[in-house]
Amino acid sequence: MKLKALIIEDNEQNMYMLTFLLENNNYEVFQAFNGLDGIKAAIEHSPDVILLDIQLPQMDGYQIAKELRKKSDLQHIPIVAVTSHAMVGDREKAMESGATGYIEKPIDPDNFIQRMESYFSEELQQRKIRL
Ligand code: MN
Repeated sequence: MKLKALIIEDNEQNMYMLTFLLENNNYEVFQAFNGLDGIKAAIEHSPDVILLDIQLPQMDGYQIAKELRKKSDLQHIPIVAVTSHAMVGDREKAMESGATGYIEKPIDPDNFIQRMESYFSEELQQRKIRL
């Protein structure tokens, strides 16, 4: 069984790149292009990790993270904010909203997966190793 990753991202190119990287690293990928679909997909698929864009139409990534954390089943899932806002305070804002980690865009394909997995719990890292 593969680990499941949910990507919430509205930019087609970023979605393509993240999907490509994750699939190449043996993840099963679910895609959502907006917050509402992302929350629905999180409930439906219980992913092992959620990659969350911050700049999204309607509901932004901060709001989405807050909504996800309200659901008891989703509280333990690592949420990694992926954002091009390289502004002071963004990391803090993401963490306050419930994100586990933060990776700035443009993403570096050579270390993205490693950085994402660095936010996994010990238990999840062990599961990944055993797969
Ligand atoms: Mn975006």
